[in-house]
Amino acid sequence: MDDLRKKAKDLLESQAVNVIIGYGEGTSGAVRAIFPRKAEETDKLIYDDRCTQNLAVYLMKHEIKHMEKKGIVATIPAMRSILQVASEYQLKEDELVILGIGPDGKLVDIPGFKAMEDYLATQDFGIQEDDKAILRKIDAMSMEERWSFWKDELSPCFKCYACRAACPMCYCTRCFVEVNTPQWIPISANEIGNFEWHLLRAMHLAGRCINCGECGRACPLEIPIHLLTYKMTEDVQTDFGVTAGLKADMPSVLSTYKLEDKETFIR
Ligand code: SF4
Ligand code: SF4
Repeated sequence: MDDLRKKAKDLLESQAVNVIIGYGEGTSGAVRAIFPRKAEETDKLIYDDRCTQNLAVYLMKHEIKHMEKKGIVATIPAMRSILQVASEYQLKEDELVILGIGPDGKLVDIPGFKAMEDYLATQDFGIQEDDKAILRKIDAMSMEERWSFWKDELSPCFKCYACRAACPMCYCTRCFVEVNTPQWIPISANEIGNFEWHLLRAMHLAGRCINCGECGRACPLEIPIHLLTYKMTEDVQTDFGVTAGLKADMPSVLSTYKLEDKETFIR
């Protein structure tokens, strides 16, 4: 932890970054994200087993995104998120300083995206065994049983969108759920509307989800919605041989954009 604080302090003192995104003590023994902007505030940085949140989500928030230089305490899921959003042209390498954290909790030297790609290539980041077991259980179900499983799981969802707010890959400034002309999904929580929200979300994350599990952890009702995007990840790996968040220049699996496209609506 001393190494982490010292590095963060040096970065702020030398004005190499405007902010450090890291972990600090919250209330009642919980950990929360903190954003030191002065060298003396880096004493509050911590790192221990409780620090599981994927902090890369804050890189996409308006207040941070437009800062010139930011430092981030990046665990493996955060590193994968960074490469994924970089591949979507949302982050530039020269605006980031990575304070990498390995699985042993120690600082890892990650001087740039190439080093991050090389480091990730040496890591194992499979999904947790209990999640894997549920996915295999769902795979073995008939179509009717699956429908019933997800109907039961999704019916309590009251569309608070904490899952969306927690995901580094959900960064659109205007989400389809807020569009009302046309109204893509009903505002109120109901069976069809809940299915529409979650299936559209899963499709938007297909080939982009890096399996951090943050959406599931953020849900106040403990709905295992991360399993929907995990399943999409498996299908994309099987059908396209692509794993998100391993390359900063990975082409998108389900979308394409070309400057010379004859359509003008996206320019
Ligand atoms: S697990 Fe959830 S929060 Fe993490 S990248 Fe996938 S969809 Fe986003
Ligand atoms: S966090 Fe849970 S309750 Fe809120 S929108 Fe997502 S699934 Fe629904």
